[in-house]
Formats: sequence, structure tokens, C-alpha cells
Amino acid sequence: MKRTNTQKITFALLYSISTVLAADSAFAVSENYPVVQREKHGGFEVAPIAIDGLKARDQFETEHFRVSYKKEEAALTLDRISGIVAEKKKADAEKPPTSDEARVTPRDEETLKLLAANVLYHAEKARAFFVDVLKSEEVKKMEQIVVRLDLTNRYSQFERFTNDNYQPQFNNALSIEGGTPFKPKPGLNPWGREMWFRPRKEIPIGELLAQMPEDPANAQLRQARQTLYPMQIDLVIRDTLYAIFQGRLTTPSFIDSVTRQTGTLILMEGAFQVLKVVNRFLIPQKFYLDTALVPEIVYHEFSHLALSDSMKPDVSTPVNEGMADFFAASIGGSPKLAKKIKEFSTAVGKNGKKRQFFQIEYESLGKAQSDFVLGLLWGLREKLGETYATQVVFGARKFLNTKDSDIRDGLVRALLRSCDTSCESPLRDRMVIHQFLQDRGL
Ligand SMILES: [Zn+2]
Repeated sequence: MKRTNTQKITFALLYSISTVLAADSAFAVSENYPVVQREKHGGFEVAPIAIDGLKARDQFETEHFRVSYKKEEAALTLDRISGIVAEKKKADAEKPPTSDEARVTPRDEETLKLLAANVLYHAEKARAFFVDVLKSEEVKKMEQIVVRLDLTNRYSQFERFTNDNYQPQFNNALSIEGGTPFKPKPGLNPWGREMWFRPRKEIPIGELLAQMPEDPANAQLRQARQTLYPMQIDLVIRDTLYAIFQGRLTTPSFIDSVTRQTGTLILMEGAFQVLKVVNRFLIPQKFYLDTALVPEIVYHEFSHLALSDSMKPDVSTPVNEGMADFFAASIGGSPKLAKKIKEFSTAVGKNGKKRQFFQIEYESLGKAQSDFVLGLLWGLREKLGETYATQVVFGARKFLNTKDSDIRDGLVRALLRSCDTSCESPLRDRMVIHQFLQDRGL
């Protein structure tokens, strides 16, 4: 059919209007990048997917997140990735790395691209969950979050990054709150909330175990963990992960009450499912982990930020770790992981007590408590339905703070109070929650 002149003009007009609109929405474009994706039956694969809302096709930045390399403020671009790889090659040629430095795997362009695309894609997915499913106004209003790759610095509440040489961190992940410099210094500005992912460094497991001083509570912990985690992960690797995620390997003392823990061991199991596929590794004698590749770890870290309007991510407690994991598992929606969490929380332990039953001994077993909290919150999904349970748990953060909320007091009360505003029928549902908590020894 021949177009009339009017049609041609309309087309031209529409075209120019859409160009103006596109320019107006901060040049948001979409581009395909490979990311880690879950297959239908629980496995993972690396496959290209469209990342929407990019500020430029070759730049890992959206309105909500900016992926940066180490301490850089500019967004990572394909150009910068080539630069990073070239600079490293040049530096290594001038001064060969020591044997310890050589354990930090040098990045190639493909890997850096995968890491950047993967954190950005999954961070957007986590944000969408809080904004679209939970209708969170706070998350919708969040500042642009900086996501750092390969940063080794520890967090300092006074100036964001501790000195480069102070206890560099590897193989773990962290989220930080915003802050202002304690003392004015040139180049030191206030910062917003951020998510940090460490470089991967190969650690021979034997060396690692030798490095770990015996913790007086260790034997007790190990025994508890053996009964609590009926998982396939090798016990040694499990202990290793546990130590790495607590940052214990680089702390002078094994017992360090302020070290952060990232997540529960149930999620660690999820991480291993990913790693088996993407990380062509799992050499039994060595350990390393690219946390930026694991969707559940990205969800976990973002969940800390989504909860951070009342639960600061500066200290790890069973309640805030268990909650972050509850959302990580909800966002991930892995049926395999859901089954594991359920199996864990309903199984019967060696002492004949149900694991789902709150035991006072948990108070002295930090990690076990996080898993208990995850299992507990997950159980609510069956009682209230997935949507309401997720809303009640999210609403509970308003009645919790990181420092003084324990399970028996803080969490129970917060869930019941949250129900007053989030439940379909508060009177009835409060009874349901009350009964459910009582059945679990709370
Ligand atoms: Zn955490």
C-alpha cells in the first residue's frame, strides 16, 4: 500500500518525537551481555541477555547502579576494561608478581565484562523485586548505588576505604552504608551506599587450615554445623568458606566479634551450584570465589541495602543476615534452593529435636542462628502465602535495628507488629503467626 503524504508526515513527526523522548530519558539504551542465568531445572548457564536502561551501550551504568573498578569513581566501560588488562600486563612485565601476588588471578577482558554485566543485571533484578513486588518507596528513591569490582580495601566509617596495605580482602563481598569523612582531606568526599565485590585469590586449602588458629568454640561449632548442615559441600571447604566470609583469615584473632558474615551456609550451597558451572574450578586443593558471579550473593548484598533504612549493614547479626538471605532466596526463586531450605528447617537433628525448633544453644552459635532465621521466615511463606509473608518480613525491618534485635524478642515482636499493617486480615493472621512461632519454640 502506498503511503499518503499525511501518513509520511505523521511518521516523520512520530520519529522526531520518539528521538526527543529517548534523549529525555537520559539516553537509556539496551545491550546484550553474557550473564549467569538459572536454567529451568535449577542449574546455571552463562548466556547473553539484554540489559536495559544503560546510559551507553559500552558502559556498565544505569540510573540505579554504577559499576566501577576498585576505587575509581567513573563507570566501567569496554574501553576502560581494555585499559585495565593492558596496564596489568605492562606492570607485570616491568616487575614480575611475587608468588603471593600471582595467586590473584589476572583478569582478562571477557571475565571483567562478565563480572560487570552480571552484577549490574542481578542488582537491577534485586531492585525490581523490592520496587515492583514489595512496592518499597524507600528503594525506589534510593541514590545511585556504586558497585565496586576487585576492591581489596576494608571499609572505614571515617574515610570509606582503609589504607591500601591494610589487610587486603579477597573472595568475599560486602555492602556499606553512606557516610561523610571524619576529617576533611583533599579528594575525600561524602559517599552513598555501595556494594563491594573482592578479587578472587587462590588459597591452598592446606595453608588456609594451618593459618586458622584453633578457636575455643571451634569443636563445638564444628559439631553443631555437622548436624545442622546436611549438605554435599565438603566439610573442609565448608569451614573455609565460613572463615573467609567472616574475614577471619586476615584478622589477627580468630574470635572477632565485629567481623561481618555474609549469609547463611544454605546460600553458600547455592553459590556452589553456580560455581560448579561457571568457575571451571573447584580444584579440591585450592579455594577461590568470584562473588560477583553468584546471583544469590548479589541479591543478598542488595537486600542489606534495601533493609538499611532501619537495619544498618555495619554489623552482622543472625537477624539481619537471615533476613537478607530470605530476600536473596525469594528474588532468586530457585526451586532447588527452596527445597533445601525447607528440608533443613523441617529435618530432625541427631538429638531428636526438630531443627526448626528454637534451641537456646543457638544463642552461642552465631551461624546456626542465621540459618534458623532463614528457615523460620521461609516457613512463614507456607502459612501466609508467598506474597503476604514477604511483605510481613519486609515490613518487620521497621521494628528492628541491627544492634539490639535478637530472635526471641526482637524478631518475634517485629513480625507481629508488621502484620498489623501488611497482613490481609491482621487479627486472624497474627494468630497464625503466633501459633507458627510457638510451634518453633519461640
Ligand atoms: Zn550479609
